[in-house]
Amino acid sequence: MIAVVGSVAFDAVRTPFAQGEKVLGGAAVHFALAASFFDEVHVVGRVGGDFGEEEFAVLRQRGIDVSGIERVAEGETFFWRGEYGFDMASRTTHETRLGVFADFNPTLSERARRADVLFLANIQPSLQRRVRSQVPSPRFAALDSMNIWIQGQRGELEAAIGEVDCVILNDAELRELTGLPSLYAAAQRLLALGPQAVVCKQAEFGASLYTPEGFFSLPAYPLEQVIDPTGAGDTFAGGFLGYVAANRSRPIDEALLREALACGIALASFNVEGLGTERLQRLQPQELAQRYAELARFSSFTPAPLPLRDLAAAG
Ligand code: AMP
Repeated sequence: MIAVVGSVAFDAVRTPFAQGEKVLGGAAVHFALAASFFDEVHVVGRVGGDFGEEEFAVLRQRGIDVSGIERVAEGETFFWRGEYGFDMASRTTHETRLGVFADFNPTLSERARRADVLFLANIQPSLQRRVRSQVPSPRFAALDSMNIWIQGQRGELEAAIGEVDCVILNDAELRELTGLPSLYAAAQRLLALGPQAVVCKQAEFGASLYTPEGFFSLPAYPLEQVIDPTGAGDTFAGGFLGYVAANRSRPIDEALLREALACGIALASFNVEGLGTERLQRLQPQELAQRYAELARFSSFTPAPLPLRDLAAAG
């Protein structure tokens, strides 16, 4: 089972090709929808009274365990408003309302504490550490972060990095955190803090994996049109960690992590094809398997069979 802690949100998004005023979003939601193709996902989060049955149903339909999402009836769900430029890479945040997320300090259930795989999505590093300490022995734990924590809680973030197996950041975050322009050097600096892997997300250029043994990189799946990149990073993480979780009998080595990286890239390519979680919600396992296999056409990657979960049985 995979446990994820992070934002469960409503987003207002404007891109050159789509816009929405109140779409389901949040790092934990994008992550969970992606990872649910591979294993059971337990979401730890907090929402307000405006988060209704319709939203919970989107998660439940994918067999996602929402019992760790606390609903505060008199509060408001985390809200984020952002806008993308023509290149779909530059993003401006216009508004962030924390709502019930402001004093979020979860106590994990007994079940969540036994998670095999743990993802600490982008939240305060101090909170990531508190959650990490409640899951004593996951097979694999990973974290994401963002500029506000790099600038405001660098020490705590470095300590959190020392307590996980994998760091998943984008290129700008990796450079800002380490003060190093070379992504290779930046990744080495983070590996020295303790994790066994650093993954660098590079939007349309794909993603790279750095480990003490080596370096591996894959381009993004080539798409004619991107509708909305929101949540692509979390969707990538869901595919990446979902793949690790589903291969429970294999050692978590370089070979597995390379296949997992490709899986993250395949999932993220679907996420950006629709507004918010719209495309992920209607994604079918066969489409995913087909695109994963197709990655071989654009790279030297040799795909292994995708360890897909039986969603019909889970849902
Ligand atoms: P990404 O595009 O991968 O960076 O993820 C975007 C998602 O992160 C959106 O759905 C937002 O709701 C959520 N988000 C934006 N800002 C924050 C924040 N400060 N803390 C937690 N989640 C956030």
